[in-house]
Amino acid sequence: MARLRFKALSQLNKRAKVQVDIPATKISDYFGEDSFGVKQMLGSLAPAVFKKVSEAIKNHEKIDAETADAVASAVKSWAMSKGATHYTHWFQPLTGGTAEKHDAFFDPISGIEKFKGSELVQQEPDASSFPNGGIRSTFEARGYTAWDPTSAMFIYGKTLCIPTVFVSYTGETLDTKSPLLKALKAVDKAATKVCQFFDKDINTVSASLGCEQEYFVVDRSLYMARPDLVMTGRTVFGHSPARGQQLDDHYFGAIPTRVYKFMKDFEIESWKLGIPLRTRHNEVAPSQFEVAPLFEEVNAANDHNQLLMDVMNRVSERHNLQVLFHEKPFAGLNGSGKHNNWSLMTNTGVNLFAPASNAKDNLLFLTFFITAIKAVHEHSDLLRASIATAGNDHRLGAHEAPPAIMSAFLGKQMNTVLDELEKNGNVKIEKGDNMYMKLGIDQIPEIILDATDRNRTSPFAFTGNKFEFRAVGSSDNSATPMTILNLIMADQLVDFHASVSKEIESGTEKRLAIVNVLRRYIKESKAIRFEGDGYSDDWVKEAEKRGLGNITNTPRAIETYLSEKSIGLFERHGVFNRKEVEARNEIKLEGYIKKVQIEARIMCDLAINHIVPTATSYQNKLILNANGLKGLGIDNTGVVDIIKKISGYIDTIEQNVNKMTEERKRANKLTDTNERAMAYCDDIKEKYFDKIRKAVDKLELLVDDEDWPLVKYRELLFLR
Ligand code: ADP
Ligand code: MG
Repeated sequence: MARLRFKALSQLNKRAKVQVDIPATKISDYFGEDSFGVKQMLGSLAPAVFKKVSEAIKNHEKIDAETADAVASAVKSWAMSKGATHYTHWFQPLTGGTAEKHDAFFDPISGIEKFKGSELVQQEPDASSFPNGGIRSTFEARGYTAWDPTSAMFIYGKTLCIPTVFVSYTGETLDTKSPLLKALKAVDKAATKVCQFFDKDINTVSASLGCEQEYFVVDRSLYMARPDLVMTGRTVFGHSPARGQQLDDHYFGAIPTRVYKFMKDFEIESWKLGIPLRTRHNEVAPSQFEVAPLFEEVNAANDHNQLLMDVMNRVSERHNLQVLFHEKPFAGLNGSGKHNNWSLMTNTGVNLFAPASNAKDNLLFLTFFITAIKAVHEHSDLLRASIATAGNDHRLGAHEAPPAIMSAFLGKQMNTVLDELEKNGNVKIEKGDNMYMKLGIDQIPEIILDATDRNRTSPFAFTGNKFEFRAVGSSDNSATPMTILNLIMADQLVDFHASVSKEIESGTEKRLAIVNVLRRYIKESKAIRFEGDGYSDDWVKEAEKRGLGNITNTPRAIETYLSEKSIGLFERHGVFNRKEVEARNEIKLEGYIKKVQIEARIMCDLAINHIVPTATSYQNKLILNANGLKGLGIDNTGVVDIIKKISGYIDTIEQNVNKMTEERKRANKLTDTNERAMAYCDDIKEKYFDKIRKAVDKLELLVDDEDWPLVKYRELLFLR
C-alpha cells in the first residue's frame, strides 16, 4: 500500500499540462448552443407550435400529440445538425444522480433517422433495477419516463438528452422531479391567488433557485490511492494536518493553476449547455471551492445543477483531478453544502421577497415574507427531513456547518419591522440617514434594507431579496428540499388566503384583514427566529427551551415524513399519496443503511489489512532497536514507550473492529428496515466509527512516514 501512496506522490511532479480549448468568441456567442432552449425553439418551430409549447409550459399542461410530433421533428433535425446520433430520456431516480438509456435515431428497417412525438413524450425504460420501496412488487413491474417540457433538452456528447419524470406503471412517482413539479404547481396556484389581493394582473408565480455549489478538488492519483475516498467519497481515517484552515488564508487566496484550468474548462462546457454559471471562488478549507450560477426557475435550475455535477466530474478526470461532492470529505475541516437561494417571482416581474418602493407592493412583500417564516415554523421538522442524508449527517451540527436545528435568520431590520408590525399594526422606524423606514397601512414609503446584514451560521437566512437554505448537502439533489420548501409555502399561502377571506367576509377592510393575519403569523412563529450564532452550544440549549427539534441523524429525521400531519399536507396538494411517502422512506432508509454499511466495511478493511500490518511491522523494527539498546546497556525507555503505545492502539482497533463486525451481523438480521437503519446509526456508526478512527489517526502520528499506507491529509489538501 505505501508503494501506491509514493507512486501517486511521485506522479504529481510529472503531470503534463492539460490544454483547455477556450473558444475564440465571446461567451454570449456560444452560450446555450447545445441546449434546445427558447432561442433554438423560436428558430425551428412554427410560431403556432411555439406558442402552444410556451402556453403548456406556463400553465403546467400536457402537450398534445400533434405539437409533440412537431417538436420531435424539429429537435431531431437540430440535434442531428450538431452531430447527435442517439437520444435518451434523462431522469433522476431516487438513488441520486441521473440515469439514462440511449436509443439511436437511426431506424434500421426504414434505413433513415427517425424520431416521433410519441418517443419524445414517453419511454419505458426497464425500471426493475431502480429503487422503488416496494411499490412495484405490489403493483406493476414496469415504469415509464415522460417528457418534462419545462426543462430544455440538451446535447451531451453525441446524445440528445430529454429531461423526463420517472413514474411506475401505476402512476406512483419514482423520481425526485415529479414531486418537485407538483409542488411548484401548488405554490404557483396558491401564491397567484394571494397576489390577486394586491394586483389582478398577476396570473402566475414561479419559484426561482440559485444553487451555490461547494466542492473539494484533489489530485486524481492521490484520490485513487485512498480506497475510502473512492468507495465512500470521504476519508474514514486521516489525522488533521499541521496546517488546516486555521490560517483562513485559502478563502481569499488565488485559485491554484491546475484547479483554475479545470474551472475554466467545466465553465465552457456548462455555458454551451446553457447553464448560467457566474461566480467561482475558493472556499474556507484548503482545496475547497465554490461555483454559483445565476438563478433560474427551480426545475430548470435543479436540472442544471444535476448536469453541472456530471460535467464537473467528467472534466475533472480530464485534468487528472477528482472533484469531491461529499458533504464531509475531511474530518476537522469545513464540510460542503449546496446553498439553495430561493425566491418567488410574478409574471409581472415582481420578486415577492424583495422589499419594494411603494406602499402597496411592500404589503405584498411583507405578506410573502411573513408567510414564509410562518411556513418554516410550522414545518421545520419536514424541512429538516428534506435534507437528511448519510453524508449530510456528518456535516450538520459539526464543525463549521449549520446545525441540525432549523431556524430562520431575518436580519436586524426585518426583525424590527416584524416587531413593530406585531405591536402597533404598522411600522415606523427612523434610524440614521438612509435607513429611514416607515410602514403604515395607508402610506408605506420605501424600505431600505441593509443587505450587508448576514449570518453565515443560520440554516435558513433572509439575504435581502431571497431566502438562502444553507443546510442542503453538497452532493444532494435539491429537488427534495425544493419540493418541501415550495410545498410548505403553498400550504401556508392557502391558509393565509382563507384567513384573510374570512376576515373580509366578516366586514374587515381588505388591507386591515391582511395585516391582522400577518400579525397573528408573527406571534405564532416567533420560536423559529434566531439571529445569534447557530454554531454555538448556547443555541442548542436555547432551541431546546423553545421546543425546536435538533435531530442529528437521518433515520430519525425522516420519520416526520410519515406523520399524519405530513401525509395530510402531501395529499392536500397532490404531491405524494401515502403509499408514495412510505415507499420513499423505505428507499431512503435502505440508501442510508447501504452507505453506513460500506463505510463500516471499508473501515474494517483498511484497519485490519493495511493499518495494523503496517503498525506491527514498524513495531518489530522498534523492538529490534529496543533489544539492541538494552544489549548495549543503553536506556531504551523512549522506544519501549512507543512500542507500548502502538500496542495499545492496535488493541483498540482490533477489539472495536471485532465488536463492530458483531453488531453488523446482528443488524443485518433485522428484517424491519427502520430498526436496521437505527441499528446502523446507533450501534455501528455512533458507537465505533470515532473510536476506531481515533486509534488509527494516532498510529499515523507514530508510525514511520515511509511506511504509512494512506495518502495523508497534507498531501491530499496541499499538493497539486
Ligand atoms: P451571495 O449569497 O454570496 O451574496 P449572491 O447574492 O450573488 O451571492 O447570490 C447567490 C446566489 O443566489 C446566486 O446563484 C444568485 O443567482 C442567487 N439569487 C439571487 N437572487 C435570487 C432570487 N431572486 N431568487 C433565487 N436566487 C437568487
Ligand atoms: Mg450566498
